[in-house]
Amino acid sequence: MTDLDSAALADRTARVLADVADAAAAAGRNAGEVTTIVVTKFHPAELVRALAELGQRHLGESRLQEFAPKAQSLRDLDLDWHFIGQLQSKKAARALEHAGTIHSLDRRSLLTALAASGRAADVFIQVNLTDDPARGGVSAADLPEFAEAVLAVPALRLRGLMAVAGLGAEPRAEFARVRELRDRLLTPIAPEATALSMGMSGDYRDAIAEGATHLRIGTAITGKRPDPAYARS
Ligand SMILES: *Cc1c(COP(=O)(O)O)cnc(C)c1O
Repeated sequence: MTDLDSAALADRTARVLADVADAAAAAGRNAGEVTTIVVTKFHPAELVRALAELGQRHLGESRLQEFAPKAQSLRDLDLDWHFIGQLQSKKAARALEHAGTIHSLDRRSLLTALAASGRAADVFIQVNLTDDPARGGVSAADLPEFAEAVLAVPALRLRGLMAVAGLGAEPRAEFARVRELRDRLLTPIAPEATALSMGMSGDYRDAIAEGATHLRIGTAITGKRPDPAYARS
């Protein structure tokens, strides 16, 4: 059966949302500019239901094989799903059956597949802040040309940039770099693509200070993720 502790979940949700508002105020920003996406990967659909009852509308998932059936079983709820993980091109259309926003657009092949699906979506271009191409994300050098290619697809609305701070890196400096990439490389060609998807459980205050508009917060709200074996395969 269930070991979902809804009181503890409500408590963590309220505390994190209050802290987000506090960090926004400390940065001289309006909390209304910041969307908190609760990342529910590895958690059962029932946790999403409990979050929806708390008024949480924006949810995030990163693994398609887990996301698709979960979102399907929650179709009766009015949720706004964000797909935030690596996505294979051949499965891109499947992600758009449930997600209105893709945060991890980082390759031509994926862009082509999203375009071919014929579905409308909001997209973020994921930027790679490391020198390791395996980490996913577009390099700064390739960003302008890739952004032009995204803008050429009418069904896709380019919202801005997404990034994950590198392990061991100083998150605030990394987030400042994302903001700077937006200002220098994206704004000249896509002035409306101002959004910044950055900040997770351990670093969302830094992200807010550097202008994040979309936080992707998992464990600080959901609690520890269940054993990944639950969702592996
Ligand atoms: C899991 C995940 C998050 C949330 O991480 P937490 O540390 O649990 O807040 C955010 N972004 C991406 C891309 C993720 O995969």
